[in-house]
Amino acid sequence: MKSYRKELWFEVPTRRAFINITSDVQRCIDESGVKDGLVLVNAMHITASVFINDDESGLHHDYDVWLEKLAPHAPVSQYRHNVGEDNADAHMKRQIMGREVVAAITGGYLDFGTWERIFYGEFDGRRKKRVLVKIIGE
Ligand code: ZN
Repeated sequence: MKSYRKELWFEVPTRRAFINITSDVQRCIDESGVKDGLVLVNAMHITASVFINDDESGLHHDYDVWLEKLAPHAPVSQYRHNVGEDNADAHMKRQIMGREVVAAITGGYLDFGTWERIFYGEFDGRRKKRVLVKIIGE
């Protein structure tokens, strides 16, 4: 069995963003040489997410509005976590958007439905953060 590990680094200039990382993950699969297996992709931070959905800008705007309703950033004083920091909302947004995805690799490619894409969801950006890609298979 082959095993592959790589960290993808991000430094988003805004507090929040959604970034399509599908091609980065496919590049990892190419490098791994795995034709049949599984890929795990997870945020290595507790204020960022990795999830699968549509690469459609209207939907990403809708996510942002929805997440702000669920866990508004301001006023930061509404959260007990915000003692010496201001990212309680980012922890909550990450919780609902998820930590990781696992996807099948078949024939050396992500075995996806038509509209499935992998995204990095940033909720407390403006600093360097990592995503782990782990691949196992043959
Ligand atoms: Zn925090």
